[in-house]
Amino acid sequence: MDAMSTPSPLLAGPPDRYLTCQNCAITFVWTGWEQQTAEQAPHLCPGCRHLLTLTRRLRGTVKWYDRRKGFGFITASDGSEVFVHRSNLVGVHVLRRGQVVAFRREAAENGPLAVDIELLAAAEPETPPSPHP
Ligand SMILES: [Zn+2]
Repeated sequence: MDAMSTPSPLLAGPPDRYLTCQNCAITFVWTGWEQQTAEQAPHLCPGCRHLLTLTRRLRGTVKWYDRRKGFGFITASDGSEVFVHRSNLVGVHVLRRGQVVAFRREAAENGPLAVDIELLAAAEPETPPSPHP
C-alpha cells in the first residue's frame, strides 16, 4: 500500500535548475531537457542571449573604400559584402583597403549596411591586393 511515493518513470532527465544571469542578474530556469542538450550551463538568461545575437558585432576587412565619395564595401568574416558609408564610421574618417574593422550589420533598402564601424587593425600585409574594378 505505498502507491503515494511511486516516482514517475517518465521523468528521465535531471530536474530543472535555477541559474542567475551574469548580465542582468535575474534568475532563470535551466530545464532538464536543456541540461541534456547543452554542454555547460548558460551564463546569460534567454533575453540577454537574444539581445546578444541582435547586437553581435561582426569582423570584416575593407574591400575597397573611396575616400572622395565617402563609401565602400567591407567583406564580413562570413564572406558577405556590406556597404559602408562614412557617416557610420566611429573614431576614424576614412578606411583603407585591407583594414580590419568591427561593425554591426543592419538591413537597409539596398542591402546590408555596416554601422558603428570601428577600426581594429591597420591593413594586414598578408591580404592579397584586390583592385577595385
Ligand atoms: Zn539577462
